[in-house]
Amino acid sequence: MLNLVLFGPPGAGKGTQSQKLIEKHGLIHLSTGDLLRSEISQGTELGLEAKKLMDHGALVPDAVVIGMISHKLDANKDAKGFIFDGFPRTVAQAEALDQLLASKNAPISGMVALEVNDDELEQRLLLRGKESGRPDDANPEVIRKRIKEYNDKTAPVAGFYKAQNKFKSINGIGSINEIFDAISGVIASY
Ligand code: ADP
Repeated sequence: MLNLVLFGPPGAGKGTQSQKLIEKHGLIHLSTGDLLRSEISQGTELGLEAKKLMDHGALVPDAVVIGMISHKLDANKDAKGFIFDGFPRTVAQAEALDQLLASKNAPISGMVALEVNDDELEQRLLLRGKESGRPDDANPEVIRKRIKEYNDKTAPVAGFYKAQNKFKSINGIGSINEIFDAISGVIASY
């Protein structure tokens, strides 16, 4: 089983690369951001609570996203593997994911981090906000808050996988295909 954690700050290109990876490897894409936006568009109670936090650039509580991932893992028992995109975003989420996967005998193969500097991220997110209408991409203050949340709470997750010798970082600036080739090179080494 190939279980890949795609890592990087908001706007690093995780969603774009996930689409290419699922096509090539037949994996299931688990994006907690997409799952939360789907709850919001369905108007569920979980979605309404999450929206308040997401609109301010704050993280949603660990228990909420861990529950969503657990549910999706159970719903896809015959999958060839998973791409985790936007999850785990805290060390507590990473610990919970290891436990969920241990019970399935299918550990994380590795984490690939896309490195992109803050100025480039802010520009990409503002552009995405114009094109997609995502409310959390429209406001520079919210974007900076998300990047701060990433640096404070999410960046330490890299250390969690480094300690397991499962961390590789690649340059997230370049053409979509160049970056995809770099990720594919890492996957080939598993
Ligand atoms: P981006 O990577 O551009 O920030 P996402 O779609 O991954 O976009 O996430 C959007 C928002 O959803 C985050 O700012 C956060 O509020 C919430 N979110 C997504 N995934 C998680 C998670 N694993 N833990 C907590 N909050 C999350």
